[in-house]
Amino acid sequence: METFHLWTIGCQMNKADSERLGSALEQLGLHQVDRAADADVVVLNSCVVRQNAEDKVVVNLSNMAPLKRQREDRVVALMGCMVGPKSDELARRFPFVDLFMRPQDYGPLLDLVGERLGLDWEGCVGSLAPSQPDVTCYIPIIHGCDLMCTFCIIPYRRGRQVSRPLDEIVREAELLAARGVKEVTVLGQTVDAYGYDLEGKTDLAELLTELNEVPDLNRIRFLTSHPSFMSERLIEAVAKLPKVCEHVNLPIQSGDDEVLARMRRPYTRSDYVELVGRIRDTVHGVSLSTDLIVGFPGETEEQFQHSVDLISELRFDKVHCAAYSTRPGTIAARTMEDDVPHEAKLHRREEIDRLQENILSETNSAMIGQDVEVLVEDSRKGKWRGRTRSDKLVFFQDSRDLRGELVTVGITSAGPWSLQGEPTVGRPNLAG
Ligand code: SF4
Repeated sequence: METFHLWTIGCQMNKADSERLGSALEQLGLHQVDRAADADVVVLNSCVVRQNAEDKVVVNLSNMAPLKRQREDRVVALMGCMVGPKSDELARRFPFVDLFMRPQDYGPLLDLVGERLGLDWEGCVGSLAPSQPDVTCYIPIIHGCDLMCTFCIIPYRRGRQVSRPLDEIVREAELLAARGVKEVTVLGQTVDAYGYDLEGKTDLAELLTELNEVPDLNRIRFLTSHPSFMSERLIEAVAKLPKVCEHVNLPIQSGDDEVLARMRRPYTRSDYVELVGRIRDTVHGVSLSTDLIVGFPGETEEQFQHSVDLISELRFDKVHCAAYSTRPGTIAARTMEDDVPHEAKLHRREEIDRLQENILSETNSAMIGQDVEVLVEDSRKGKWRGRTRSDKLVFFQDSRDLRGELVTVGITSAGPWSLQGEPTVGRPNLAG
């Protein structure tokens, strides 16, 4: 048993889970390969938050059946949000799958690999931080979620909120920085609720303050915030800590109070608008992104227009808009009729996407002529690619190897989704 293949779909949390499992398998002596056909262990890390993600998992999983027939000793595992507390139904549908593992439940696979290799994996596997990380890296700091939004399956699959100890997270960030990581994003479904479940209480503001002291780390981000937990302390920490990027992802989900109540989002539209005002007043140059669902059960055209108005009024830097689809097992699936026609949902999403594209065309065009600090992540099609502190994607050409450098780039042209520019000086600006 020498090789593994990991396929991942879904949110940043899934990507982080896969990186951590990959790290554990590497510590057991396996190496990662690009093709499932070349692997002794194949893991599919699944997502069921949207129907199209679930469809892709099913197609990919079905493709594993002939691979398993080719080699009976190949291990095939399904991990992630598709796996609930009971896996009997999945086992009936996919009898060739050896293991079904809930999110972050790496133990069964590590037990099996350890057994085949004749190793005690718990003695071999240390920190799960990736051994060869990219310039930017995710650190999960909370598992699960204590809220029960009616449309969401995550609490049923990832369980209730459990925060990781603060010192463990800081040690992991130090290790990652020593391995060349320049930017970490701390992750949680409600990342701003970090710490309230820990004994001796701490919070995200305190964690960010500690992370700000980690040597060789340039930038810190956090994802995803919930409006109910966005405290003054946290807003002020973002404003004053130099390494914390001025970017907040703050899902609204709907611009209509009745829809918000049916979603069990515990705030009103005006609470949200007031919160955005406070963040913008306190954090100079902050960029804001949001998530929005259109076509939620019972959403009328008028209620949808309240979402349109909100997006026009607040002019976000990014809007992730999803057309509602029923997720079996959620409160909405059990108690509400999915009564907005599919076509209407698609039209509503298109209207939001068009509106947001126009907003971004305007706001990004206003950046032409400005100098921005870019952390260079990698290259694509002969151009360096990186992000500003405000999470704008920037491309530029330069013959030097700039991966992992902070470079000052003058913006020369802009589209709705990215910016193009030129480095302003002959040498990169190695900011601390
Ligand atoms: S806050 Fe709501 S949408 Fe987010 S993970 Fe928790 S239940 Fe799901």
